[in-house]
Amino acid sequence: MSQDGQAETLVIIGSGPAAWTAAVYASRANLDPLVIEGEPSRDMIPGGQLMYTTDIENFPGFPEGVDGQDLMARMKAQAEKFGTRTMMENVASVDFAVYPFVLRPSYSPEIRAKAVIVATGARANWMGLENEIRLAQSGGGVSACAVCDGALPAFRDKRLAVVGGGDSAMEEANYLTKFASEVVIIHRRDGFRASKIMAERTLANPKIRVEWNTKVADVLGDEFVTALLLEDTNTGERREMEVGGLFVAIGHTPNTGFLKGQVELTPHGYLVAPYAWRTATSVPGVFAAGDVMDDYYRQAITAAGTGCMAALEAERWMAHHGVTEAESPVLETAESSIGHPAAQMA
Ligand code: NAP
Repeated sequence: MSQDGQAETLVIIGSGPAAWTAAVYASRANLDPLVIEGEPSRDMIPGGQLMYTTDIENFPGFPEGVDGQDLMARMKAQAEKFGTRTMMENVASVDFAVYPFVLRPSYSPEIRAKAVIVATGARANWMGLENEIRLAQSGGGVSACAVCDGALPAFRDKRLAVVGGGDSAMEEANYLTKFASEVVIIHRRDGFRASKIMAERTLANPKIRVEWNTKVADVLGDEFVTALLLEDTNTGERREMEVGGLFVAIGHTPNTGFLKGQVELTPHGYLVAPYAWRTATSVPGVFAAGDVMDDYYRQAITAAGTGCMAALEAERWMAHHGVTEAESPVLETAESSIGHPAAQMA
């Protein structure tokens, strides 16, 4: 509930570029949004994946590059400037079967909301090694996004390692050949999981070689990665390999655990937005933005773009249903109206 005991007009869950962009648009549209930012934990900090990115060189408007944490702080300040309210807690569970929707934060009393934008992002999977996480968080040459970080000067003309055997690893390895002297894919089995065409393209690239049946046992280097401790998955034999960068490409996990059973998700857990160029989900009044609904582009700028779309769509959906004036709009059943309000808003 808002301070006056009424349902919130719009709650935005998340705190990455999608959430803050949605908040900027929604607050400028006088929707008085509340952003539930999430709370710091061992593997997640509010602000999302950009909080682990030191130099962002591909976000338009920053020719000199921008620090990920700085960019998130600026986006948040911009949203707050227009009246966005924030709350640093996780949403533990939701009930989208009732209206206004129910959101249950981890500590605070439940919140009712007339519209919700879910922008909780996806987290890159890590191998879970202590030095891997340390160097990823400090900008020490360990990354989970070649497109974001591969072009940085620190990685030029170095031997770069990519961990994984799926399409992401193939894509990252091929992309990194533009900058690296050599790319070494480290894969724990003797065959790729990647699609045939991407695997063949990768194996045909003269700048890429593969260490099969190999896993990373440790990441070496104080300030910056200098070498990997590799282990043969068949024999257990260990050896060191010098590298100038490590890219972990072992998949992403969308942050949708709290939504299970409430809204349609893909088999991989991403939010389904059934209509092209729309952010409406299977529940009317619930919208999706950013990496939580995008396993394809996963860029800060695309997340920001879908955040803008979600705010505009939520605003138009509420106007269409008279939500801002009435406590409970007349809604069709979820089945008959998936994306329907949005589809009428072209
Ligand atoms: P993925 O297909 O799940 O592959 C993950 C890879 O990481 C697997 O090879 C897996 O090894 C390995 N792995 C998992 N955990 C590991 C660990 N702890 N240590 C070492 N290796 C580990 O994930 P993805 O490559 O990110 O792809 C996800 C989805 O997006 C797929 O459907 C993919 O087709 C799609 N995608 C498509 C494109 C494209 O079409 N351009 C690009 C990227 C992704 P095992 O094989 O041994 O399990």
